[in-house]
Amino acid sequence: MTTPYLTALSRIAIATVSILSVASCAPVADDVNAATEQKDAANVSAQPSAAAPKNIIMVIADGMGPAYVSAYRYFMDNPDTEAVETTVFDGILVGTVRTYPHQQSGVVTDSAASATAMSTGVKSYNGAVGMGVDKQPLETVLHRAHKLGLKTGLAVTSHIVHATPASYMVANEARGNYAQIADSFYDDRINGEHLADIMLGAGWGHFIREDRNLVELFQADGYQYIDSYDQLSSIDPSVPVLGLFGDGSLPWALDDIDPTRLHTLTKAIVPYLAADTQDSGYFLLLEASQIDWAGHGNDIASAMAEMHDLAKTMEYLVDYVEAHPDTLVILTADHSTGGLTIGAVSDYRWDASYIQNFKKSVPTIAANMLTETDKGQYVSDMFGFALNQQEIDSLDVINADMNPRAVQAILKDIINTRTNTGWTTSGHTAVDVDMFAFGPSAQVFAGNQNNTDIAEKIFTLLDQAHKK
Ligand code: MG
Ligand code: ZN
Repeated sequence: MTTPYLTALSRIAIATVSILSVASCAPVADDVNAATEQKDAANVSAQPSAAAPKNIIMVIADGMGPAYVSAYRYFMDNPDTEAVETTVFDGILVGTVRTYPHQQSGVVTDSAASATAMSTGVKSYNGAVGMGVDKQPLETVLHRAHKLGLKTGLAVTSHIVHATPASYMVANEARGNYAQIADSFYDDRINGEHLADIMLGAGWGHFIREDRNLVELFQADGYQYIDSYDQLSSIDPSVPVLGLFGDGSLPWALDDIDPTRLHTLTKAIVPYLAADTQDSGYFLLLEASQIDWAGHGNDIASAMAEMHDLAKTMEYLVDYVEAHPDTLVILTADHSTGGLTIGAVSDYRWDASYIQNFKKSVPTIAANMLTETDKGQYVSDMFGFALNQQEIDSLDVINADMNPRAVQAILKDIINTRTNTGWTTSGHTAVDVDMFAFGPSAQVFAGNQNNTDIAEKIFTLLDQAHKK
């Protein structure tokens, strides 16, 4: 961590604190009014101090419940100091978000319903992409931005037609209709134009199909197509871009040639969108997609590696906003995944030291170890610590005929026991998630809010800054 970064961060943190303390010093009656107004997006314009941002960057950390943010702080702690050092997240926290979906899906949301709530302002059923329970397509904040003349873009670590990015781009009654959703990415138009100026992530199989080659269609419409990270440095800002760097997803952070690839995509896409000859502003969606997948897998090593990529991304954005004070950055999660607990089984202990030297992801280690003669030695090398005899013995049952998930479960047992990490589910939970924001109008996102409020606030800010 460099000193200039800390300086930038503390300045932003001070700005946030002063906003909150001004509110808390106000007379009680005004305080209540202020709180009511803050909840009501329509009243954003009533706040004279709230300058609407020219550019908005919405970051979604899929599955990142509050425990992930705390765990990352312990994961990054310097053990030589008494204090647990803060992370980038600590300096930008402004509130919390209620994540529940439409009543017909209960209170535990999936990524599609939650992204739809955050992109359109409408609660929907689990699985819905960009539409409500009436199954009518809805306008998203990305659509509004495009209509108002802003450039638009997205960068994710899943494939780009996955639930979260899809819910900002198109409408479909089921998130799993990937081919239809990919078709809509190409076929849907706003004012006769494609929806996004730049799209980065994975998705070869969904875009290059036997029945339809969407990459060629985009190229025919003037898009430059790239398929390796090193081409990011040479993208032409005057031409739209489709960048697909993997099939179903980018590799796990622990397996990727670039372990902070969201950071890398962000460092390319932000300058690309900012190099706008019309000076019209931009709306960008970023997603740290695989925190959720680590949570589903109850895999704390990958969860922390994905968090590290997100942290590097946010550090870049903090510096960026320091230099470009016309840009608002919002970060939240769509829900929490895995029921992660930092400590488990009545033992007052959590030890991240066992996951700080991982060489590969658990799924990759599980696959590769099948051909190793000394499995215990191989796993010790990959985990970065020496397995004890009991752990080595637990590998004896593993053979090439075993279900890969069963092999992975044996390895994750070792890691969860060593670190004393708890998990209560392989699915999602309904806990409120953290809200982070910095830049102009960041204070609009303070306090506890509904996920639908996020869309309403962004719609209002876009209209304020850009409606002619
Ligand atoms: Mg997602
Ligand atoms: Zn999930």
